Amino acid sequence: MALIEMRDVTKKYRRASTALRGINLMVNQGEFVYLVGPSGAGKSSFIKLLYREEEVTSGQLKVGNVDLTKIKRRNIPKLRRSIGVVFQDFKLLPTKTVYENVAFAMQVIGSRRRDIKKRVPEVLELVGLKHKQRSFPNQLSGGEQQRVAIARAIVNNPKLLIADEPTGNLDPEISMEIMKVLERINLQGTTVIMATHNSQIVNQLRHRVVAIEDGRIVRDEEKGEYGYHD
Ligand code: ADP
Repeated sequence: MALIEMRDVTKKYRRASTALRGINLMVNQGEFVYLVGPSGAGKSSFIKLLYREEEVTSGQLKVGNVDLTKIKRRNIPKLRRSIGVVFQDFKLLPTKTVYENVAFAMQVIGSRRRDIKKRVPEVLELVGLKHKQRSFPNQLSGGEQQRVAIARAIVNNPKLLIADEPTGNLDPEISMEIMKVLERINLQGTTVIMATHNSQIVNQLRHRVVAIEDGRIVRDEEKGEYGYHD
């Protein structure tokens, strides 16, 4: 079943800057997709359209059952709850512990205390960080901080997990460990879309590769290669 449907999607910013031109793409539930391409190709714009950080200029975009070109402002928070997002720079709350950072994502959507107490340890276990739940972000390595960010992104059971350069600040060995966590989450049924410049990872852990250049999809391969030299 299609989770993401893009038809002839164009994204223009003001000042006549065009980031995406006529994108057609279907992503099924449960897929793992790498989004690759040079800087400025449109990867971040693509990702921002999915969680409605940016609006489509023309064309059609559906995520799950939601038509993002028609979504009402008041329904955007609900959409964002069905999507987990992980960034290169983690974006953790520095004054909260690991446990509290993850629990907070459930509190803001009004989850019951009982459910939070049950679910937070589960996801911390899944990302391999249960033993660090009382630590603060600045007491953790980069890899550990990214695991917390991933735990937070999936704690509300999103259908889609978006990762924008999740290994951008991590060394190769730690990056591989983060990838294993993302793959584990994917195997549990969550669709993963990951923008990356990490050729080693793309070539070693094979998944679908969608390459964007100058706002257009130039390649779409099952178990593809990275294909660039940067
Ligand atoms: P990537 O993530 O692949 O580096 P982006 O989606 O960030 O690419 O950028 C694609 C194009 O859109 C670039 O030409 C960039 O300058 C432009 N762009 C991105 N964000 C904005 C913005 N907020 N305002 C104007 N132009 C933008």
